[in-house]
Amino acid sequence: MYNTIFWIIIAILVIDFLIENFLDYLNVKKMGSRLPKALEGIYDQEEYAKQQAYQRENHRFGIFSGTFSFLITLAMFVLFGFAFVDSVAWSVTSHAILAALLFFGIIMFASDILGIPFSLYDTFVIEEKFGFNKTTPKIFVADLLKGWLLAAIIGGGLLALIIFIYQKTQNLFWVYAWIAISVFSIFMAMFYSSLIVPLFNKQTPLEEGELRDAIRNFAEKVGFRLDNIFVINGSKRSTKANAYFTGFGAKKRIVLYDTLIEEMNTDEIVAVLAHEIGHYKKKHVLQGLLISLVQTGILLFIFSLLISSSSLSRALGVETPNFHIGMVAFGILYAPVSFVLGIFMNMLSRKNEYQADAFAAKHYKPGALASALKKLSQKNLSNLTPHPLYVFFNYSHPPLLERLTHLKNFEQQD
Ligand SMILES: [Zn+2]
Repeated sequence: MYNTIFWIIIAILVIDFLIENFLDYLNVKKMGSRLPKALEGIYDQEEYAKQQAYQRENHRFGIFSGTFSFLITLAMFVLFGFAFVDSVAWSVTSHAILAALLFFGIIMFASDILGIPFSLYDTFVIEEKFGFNKTTPKIFVADLLKGWLLAAIIGGGLLALIIFIYQKTQNLFWVYAWIAISVFSIFMAMFYSSLIVPLFNKQTPLEEGELRDAIRNFAEKVGFRLDNIFVINGSKRSTKANAYFTGFGAKKRIVLYDTLIEEMNTDEIVAVLAHEIGHYKKKHVLQGLLISLVQTGILLFIFSLLISSSSLSRALGVETPNFHIGMVAFGILYAPVSFVLGIFMNMLSRKNEYQADAFAAKHYKPGALASALKKLSQKNLSNLTPHPLYVFFNYSHPPLLERLTHLKNFEQQD
């Protein structure tokens, strides 16, 4: 049995790698094609060449880093690296929770260290070359250290709690673990902006002035409170622009990047804001949270059925089964399920984007949003002609052309 599980794990890793690379290949093959009529004028010739070069460079880098991490992961399974780290952990402590913390601590830390050269190259070579990078080496190191600290506290804390629950409740483990994770998820969804984001960025209320007045007018009209709107200093790391809606209830907020405000006119900014308010009005954050809670419940239930079996641990070369080794094996076995769920989540997300666009078009101006989206794509050197299959699997937002076509419907109604 454990032999079969071993080969299933290897097959999943290989198939996943092949699918990703195939989709990537399709995307690149579509490059160089002329921009569709509706998209002409977004890039001039020179910018388009720059965008294509940027995409090509990212593609090459993606193949290199993806293959590297695939080979390392494969080696960890084939050469029983997890069993080795497991034995190291147990040689230090005989306490199950401490051993699990040590086990994942070593794996995560090692994987992060291996990832540093890639992340350095991405930030200081590729992003730098195309004029996006604003990250200094000091910010880079500080981000890394803060990330580790957060992972240790939050990740380590959750892991310890789950194993503790497992030890105490055996049969109904998944129910209690589900409750614990749900409470934590709801807490994080509410307080992410006020607890985690400030560790990395500054968020300030909108400054007085023409923009604030325009936003106030619109926000009042659709019933959104102005003090829930913040500006974040995204320019600390990159010139790329963005905006997002987060949290719910009293903790909801819309965050606009300072880079977005710099590059767009008032009309366009209000249109982007209207889109984000659309997400709020249609309760998209709440919907996403509820779906993820249901998914977590299903995952924990299946996990609880398998974790007591010794086959999971033995597939990874560990004779005496334990919780954290079971987690690693299950993590891979569950990947196909989460792959399929991911497709549905992306479909839902794209549908939500259309809804938010429609809200902005109906309550503000379709033309202003269209112009804002074009500007965003242009400034971020986005791929305007992704392969439909790549979009189907990977895109959480519809491609620009489809969003513009959708917005056109509202213009004609005016
Ligand atoms: Zn959106």
